[in-house]
Amino acid sequence: MSAAPVKVVLATHNPHKVEELRRILGDRLAGIELIGYDGPEPVEDGATFEENALIKARAAALFTGLPAIADDSGISVDALGGAPGIHSARYAGNRDDAENLELLLTNVAALGAGADRSAHFTCAAALVDGDFEHVELGIWPGKVLAEAVGGGGFGYDPIFQPTGSAISAAEMTADEKDAVSHRALAFGQLIRVIQDRI
Ligand code: IMP
Repeated sequence: MSAAPVKVVLATHNPHKVEELRRILGDRLAGIELIGYDGPEPVEDGATFEENALIKARAAALFTGLPAIADDSGISVDALGGAPGIHSARYAGNRDDAENLELLLTNVAALGAGADRSAHFTCAAALVDGDFEHVELGIWPGKVLAEAVGGGGFGYDPIFQPTGSAISAAEMTADEKDAVSHRALAFGQLIRVIQDRI
């Protein structure tokens, strides 16, 4: 008889991120059952992606008594001093992806025609299991486009063109994005820690 799978909580309420993480982690977590989290959301008052990912994973681990994984992610534009960065989800004030994207387009356009449009996505992926805490970081470099292109992905994907790519992240297939994204990189590294630990 095979052992029952170990339950691990995925501490995010964002359905797009849950979908991506299930794809990325899916069959690489043999013996682990990823379950959703519907407990209270903690205040994300960390100063870095890493701190905020840990805050979310700690809250879910504490609430459920199970090991928890969480991510904190966002886009940083060099010429805007790294903004919106950890404030990506609420850049325009209210967690609205379309408004956030429009505000970033406006702010990058205001830099002027010849401005450096370099940007990168960051994902911090955290595992909290009792007293054990671990965070991995993934970076996806690229630039901000002048207008939204493509209907796939989510969030800032339509205005992000990855380095070495001729299309926006929203024009990529799920497989293409999963092969190179900040989230795939961070969780690809965290998987090894999860497998060793759990
Ligand atoms: P979080 O849920 O607090 O980590 O906020 C993440 C923010 O960054 C949200 O505004 C997302 O839309 C945005 N974001 C994170 N990852 C991606 C991505 O892969 N593509 C597009 N936007 C992203």
